[in-house]
Amino acid sequence: MPDKSTSSDAPAPTATETPQAPSPARKIYPIVKYGDAILEKPTAPIKKFDAELEQLAEDMFASMYAAQGVGLAAPQIGLSLRIAVVDVTVGKNPEAKIVLANPEIVHAEGEVREEEGCLSIPGFRGYVMRPQFVTIKAQNAKGEAFEIRGENLLARAFCHEIDHLNGILFLQHLSMLKRDLIKRKIKKLRKQGEW
Ligand SMILES: [Zn+2]
Repeated sequence: MPDKSTSSDAPAPTATETPQAPSPARKIYPIVKYGDAILEKPTAPIKKFDAELEQLAEDMFASMYAAQGVGLAAPQIGLSLRIAVVDVTVGKNPEAKIVLANPEIVHAEGEVREEEGCLSIPGFRGYVMRPQFVTIKAQNAKGEAFEIRGENLLARAFCHEIDHLNGILFLQHLSMLKRDLIKRKIKKLRKQGEW
């Protein structure tokens, strides 16, 4: 979900000279943009938990960090699968990495209206009402079931990503007026070859 900045510029690559632990090269997927039908179609449940799925989850984190996002769902990289990744620290805290396979909301509480964006709809934001707290159940990349409670931004990220897995974009939570305005602007951008 929410891109950290309002800018749609690609993040500048950061050169690092600090030695790092060897890690397998990660595939950075291009992000599918609004207009592609895959974003508005419900995903298929994950049934097979294997090394390939663990790889996919790590590649999704890498792709999300490259795009400066705090959440990424499989349809956004062109895969109609019920898996998403979330990290509201954008890679600053390795313990904040959350893989959500087959996630479902089991409890929601409160309401917060806050501005939201989406990596698939770069450059556009809108106010969306979301629960202040949500508890979700999901499986990790190994297939182990867990429950997790999120508050504020984390709750918003969970809801936004689970929406993606159900084929729903944040645009659908906006007023018709605001939604149509954004759609018209995107149409224009597409005509100009800028989308
Ligand atoms: Zn999104």
